[in-house]
Amino acid sequence: MPIYEFQCEDCGEIFEELILGNREDEIVCKKCKSSRVKKLMSQVAFKSGSKFVSSLGSACSTCKGGTCSSCH
Ligand SMILES: [Zn+2]
Repeated sequence: MPIYEFQCEDCGEIFEELILGNREDEIVCKKCKSSRVKKLMSQVAFKSGSKFVSSLGSACSTCKGGTCSSCH
């Protein structure tokens, strides 16, 4: 079952909602009942963003430049 994270644009509340069918438009904030909510990609992507990608690149011991394009 698809569970998405939403963030309320009014109060900033982040909550998870189970989406069934086309009911995404009916999602309301669980805190303030606002319908102005936006869907987040995922909790991991939201918190880490591009830093997660760059940390993966710098984790390669043979690369000093932050990317592994030359050694993989
Ligand atoms: Zn809210």
